[in-house]
This record gives sequence, structure tokens and C-alpha cells, in this order.
Amino acid sequence: MIQLYQPLNFMGMVYREIKQAIIDIEKMFEVLSRNPEVKDIKGAVPLIVSSGNVRFDDVRFSYDPERPILKGLSFEVPAGKTVAIVGPSGAGKSTISRLLFRLYDVSGGRILIDGQDIRDVTQGSLRASIGMVPQDTVLFNDTIRYNIRYGRWDASDAEVEEAAQLAQIDSFIKMSPKGYETQVGERGLKLSGGEKQRVAIARTVLKAPPILVLDEATSALDSHTEHEIQESLERVSRGRTSLVIAHRLSTIVGADEIIVLDQGRIAERGTHARLLASGGLYASMWNRQREAEEAREKLAQIDDDN
Ligand code: ATP
Repeated sequence: MIQLYQPLNFMGMVYREIKQAIIDIEKMFEVLSRNPEVKDIKGAVPLIVSSGNVRFDDVRFSYDPERPILKGLSFEVPAGKTVAIVGPSGAGKSTISRLLFRLYDVSGGRILIDGQDIRDVTQGSLRASIGMVPQDTVLFNDTIRYNIRYGRWDASDAEVEEAAQLAQIDSFIKMSPKGYETQVGERGLKLSGGEKQRVAIARTVLKAPPILVLDEATSALDSHTEHEIQESLERVSRGRTSLVIAHRLSTIVGADEIIVLDQGRIAERGTHARLLASGGLYASMWNRQREAEEAREKLAQIDDDN
């Protein structure tokens, strides 16, 4: 039995290594296919985050030279504060998060973190300082523990579980018979959009970056899940510089500043209360979302009654 076990065990190890290599290759291709032109300059230095101030200074960008997407964008996310970007679909909101993570280089202007142009620093140090909670979180065909630990490989089991608690996914994990050893993915446990987002939040908790970028999922979550995610995000973003790309206005009511983007330009900016009072684009977006939510709730009520 032992004789049979050892080669099988060895094959298991080889399998895991090959799988890891494939994941790394996939990641490499993903980055390469996005934009091979983003490279470290000669003499790039590590980013030094002192307070975590983020500044976009007259940023211009186009994926295709014929079609400008961002047309001179200036704003600041002061250290420890939360700024939300909202606006109609296609306005360029997610593009802003991709530029900050330097998946693309700006076509004009600059992005500064604590005064350092992000093109002058190493990509590794830049990405290590930013926690990204993307729209769609990639989960690996491995255990839930592995998937959370992806945020920081040297995290202990206790730290992984603490992060899961903060992200409010711990009780969901414990409901599975194998707990943290449950396999996720195609042949394992399938996670909903909201659960995947909580895994991403748990990863970010482990990474504990000074700067946080949340690209909210477009898909509507039910209001209970939304509320829970909101709560976990608030805990994670406390004291961190946070840039929130928001699709649901209800999630960013408390932001220090809301920037309304329209066709690549800042149309309005201010706090929720001020923007509502001014009766512009934000106010009309807010009213439209409220009406849609009320209609959804009424439909759900009718379903419940039947
Ligand atoms: P949504 O609210 O629908 O997510 P958004 O405001 O986040 O929209 P972006 O994803 O930033 O919009 O996209 C802005 C514009 O850039 C869109 O017109 C989109 O089609 C275009 N775009 C996005 N990614 C690429 C790409 N990789 N190549 C070419 N064009 C792109």
C-alpha cells in the first residue's frame, strides 16, 4: 500500500506544481495581452507610500487613438479618504482603476502616489501597495483556503480565517462539510457573485494595502447581500485611501467626495447631499435608481405573496 501511495503522492505534488505553473502562465499572459507596452523604466525605483495620497493630474487616455476615453481628468484622493467615481455606462470609470493599477499607461497627464509618478516606480511595488477588489474575481480550482491565501502567501491559517471573518464569508465556509478545505471551482463549490466578491475582500484584508480600489460589480445583488458586502468593505477601507468605482449609488452615499464622470470629463463633484441638492446629473441618476429599486422590491413582494 505504502509502495503505491508514494508514487501517487509524488504525482499529486507534480500535479499541484504543474497547476500552479499554469496559473502563473495564465497570469503572465493576462498581463502581457493587456498591454505589453507597460514596462518598468530603466532605473525604476520602488514606490514609497508614506501617507497614501493619490492624485490624477490632467489624465488623458484612449485605448484606440481615434477614440479618447478620458479627456483631462484631475482629482485627488487624500490619504485615508474615500472618493467614489460614478457616471453612465461607458463613461470611463473602470478605465480609471486600470490606469491606477498601471495595466495601461496614460496618454497624457500623470498619476501620482505620494508625489511619485507611477511610471517611475517598479510595477511590482506599485501593485503590492494597491488592493484591488475587481468586478469579477478569479477563483482557482483549489480549496477556499488557497483562494483566500492568494492575498498573501505567507499568511497563517489563523490569519486566513480572521480575514474571512472580516469579509463575512466565514460562516458560509463553515457550513460546508470540509470547511476551509472545500474545493471551489468547476467541480467543487460554486460561489455566487456576492460570495466571490467577499473572497476578494478577504484577500485584500490579508494583503493589507495602504490603497484600496474597489470596482463594484455591475450585476445587481440582492439588498441583503449588498448590505453585508458594504459593511465588510467599510471595515476594510477604514483608514485606507479608497477609490470606489460605483455602479449602485446607494453604496457610496458616505464617500468623502463623489465624482460624476460623463464622457470622459468630470461633470459634477461633491458630497452626496450637495450633489442631490444641486439637482444635476447625479440627482437624476439617484432618482432613476431609486425608482428602479422600488419597482424591484414591489415585484419581489408580489412574488412573496404568491
Ligand atoms: P460600465 O459602467 O458599463 O462598467 P465604465 O464607465 O466603467 O462602464 P469603461 O469600462 O472604463 O467604462 O470603458 C470606457 C469605454 O472604453 C467604453 O466605451 C468601452 O467600450 C471602452 N473600452 C473599455 N475597455 C477597452 C479595451 N480594452 N479596448 C478598447 N476599448 C475599451
